[in-house]
Amino acid sequence: MSELNLVEAYTFRLMGVELEKFLAWEEEHNKTCPFYDDGTSPICPSGAIGGQMTFSFTNTGLGTIVVVECLCYTVHKNEKGKINVTDFDSW
Ligand SMILES: [Zn+2]
Repeated sequence: MSELNLVEAYTFRLMGVELEKFLAWEEEHNKTCPFYDDGTSPICPSGAIGGQMTFSFTNTGLGTIVVVECLCYTVHKNEKGKINVTDFDSW
């Protein structure tokens, strides 16, 4: 059995400094994001089931890079719709 067969799952979590960075950014971003459903629009462009935020975890030899991308970045390339929340100090 090779060593690769011992890996049953990869799990990624957003916690600590990275979670704090994301939540602070999200709160500010939602104030101007065209895809944020603030309850004033009859239809949320991101859809009834959400899916507005995409979380990317990139494994490196030093640590995991965490990038969060809002739908407004994906669709409109809104530069303020993407943030790297990686806690580089923990590497
Ligand atoms: Zn957005």
